[in-house]
Amino acid sequence: MKVSVDPDKCVAAGLCVLSEESVFDQDEDTGRVRLLTAEPSVGVTVRVREAARLCPASAITILDDATA
Ligand code: SF4
Repeated sequence: MKVSVDPDKCVAAGLCVLSEESVFDQDEDTGRVRLLTAEPSVGVTVRVREAARLCPASAITILDDATA
């Protein structure tokens, strides 16, 4: 799996961090999303997909879902 985020779209809701904190973080100042890894491990792909689905700003994009 490969994932990307668009901090310009992000509305700092924080749902992605709640879904998977090993992949998503929030900027301390703006609250906007920061991507910790663009290639999450297989073990967290379900939660990363869930984060993308829940994001109210559609700021998370799954680029390559072939591995899980
Ligand atoms: S869930 Fe979406 S809007 Fe909320 S912090 Fe994550 S990327 Fe930003």
